[in-house]
Amino acid sequence: MPNRRNFLKVGAAVMASSALAPNVMAANIESGQEQVSGKLTEHKLPPLPYAYDALEPYISKRIMELHHDKHHAGYIKGLNKAEKELARARATGDYSLIQYWSRKAAFNGGGHFLHSMFWKVMAPAGKGGGGKPKGELLKMIERDFGSFDAFKAQFSAAAKNVEGSGWGLLHYRPADDRLIVLQAENQQKLSPWGSTPVMGIDVWEHAYYLQYENKRAAYIEAWWNIVNWEQVWQNILELRK
Ligand code: MN
Repeated sequence: MPNRRNFLKVGAAVMASSALAPNVMAANIESGQEQVSGKLTEHKLPPLPYAYDALEPYISKRIMELHHDKHHAGYIKGLNKAEKELARARATGDYSLIQYWSRKAAFNGGGHFLHSMFWKVMAPAGKGGGGKPKGELLKMIERDFGSFDAFKAQFSAAAKNVEGSGWGLLHYRPADDRLIVLQAENQQKLSPWGSTPVMGIDVWEHAYYLQYENKRAAYIEAWWNIVNWEQVWQNILELRK
């Protein structure tokens, strides 16, 4: 599972990219070239762990093509751009657009992180996707939500009722070893500190409208057939380390 840790590293990479010496940055910018990017993390689009049509009939090939190749790629482009502009601000001392680029970094960084997770917590139905969680994950869900059905109902309701574009999310909170269900608006709003998404469903219209039109609830119900519970458990274990 070489990609298992990648989405968890995105946040750390975003943080680490700000540790540049200003004089080095300034020298690069004065050269008139975009070498500033060479000193930063260049975020890249991770490949899908399955074929574009692997999640059919629950998510169509065309949705997956557009979602991965256009939308996710767009967030990565936006994140790279924002981090480059923040590096430029450090180099020049011009922080007049700090709010603008900080917001862009949060939005696009959130999009990159969540989509990187999203592809991995799905798998073809019957081939790693669907069914119920087993073993320790099932016990943890039952402990924290009462039952799997109660968890599923809360998660589905959270996803269905996101106002506008966003996500239904399952977070792991290391401080008390708990699972919690949350919503995110856009890619990052409403999220508290101290917990990390380990599972999520994208409920932006681009995630389902081509196939399900306005029926978000039908998309969410179908999505349970392709949840990769083993990956969800691995995501929790990574955070427990
Ligand atoms: Mn999306």
